[in-house]
Amino acid sequence: MIIPAGSKQIASLQARVLIPHRCEHCGHTYGHVADLKAEGTGRSPLWLNPEGARERARNEALEGMEKLIKSNQDPVACPACHRLSAALVAALKGQARDNAITAPIFGALMSLGFAWLASTPQRGVLASLLGLSIVPLLGSFFVSLYYGLKVRGVSTDMDLAKAGHKPLERVELTGEEYAQIAEAGFALLDEEPAETGDPA
Ligand SMILES: [Zn+2]
Repeated sequence: MIIPAGSKQIASLQARVLIPHRCEHCGHTYGHVADLKAEGTGRSPLWLNPEGARERARNEALEGMEKLIKSNQDPVACPACHRLSAALVAALKGQARDNAITAPIFGALMSLGFAWLASTPQRGVLASLLGLSIVPLLGSFFVSLYYGLKVRGVSTDMDLAKAGHKPLERVELTGEEYAQIAEAGFALLDEEPAETGDPA
């Protein structure tokens, strides 16, 4: 039996933000729109300070939101010269490489699973199951080849489209607008009121 010794507050924050960019190739300033969601928890031991818990929950959610924005790697290209930043290209290649590594591991695990099934006494199905275990291995090989090739040459928004990324909403910014937004890190376009609640 669990005896509750306090209350827990959870704040969830949902916002549409404009993330500013200055193109490293042509100097064009623009922003892209992202819908983000962050959560925070605050505890109130012995129910002494529920207000404080609510406040902590909201602050944690806000911090989470800022972290999300700082580490944002949405695939967005410059609307003027259509090129991606070098950092984004590197991030996309990293993701492709990770996928290319994960796929064979997944395939090998599935093959092991089939082989394990095939080691049961029903000899009649043994051969077919062993045969089947080749399928995930081969499949994962092609999946990793696909991921590896897909992102190899990505450097413009045309490449992004070819690699299956949906175009993101972009907004043109003047140098002045960019400077203002970049100083804050982002601009809030729309915020759903943070809901706080006691989950218990
Ligand atoms: Zn540009």
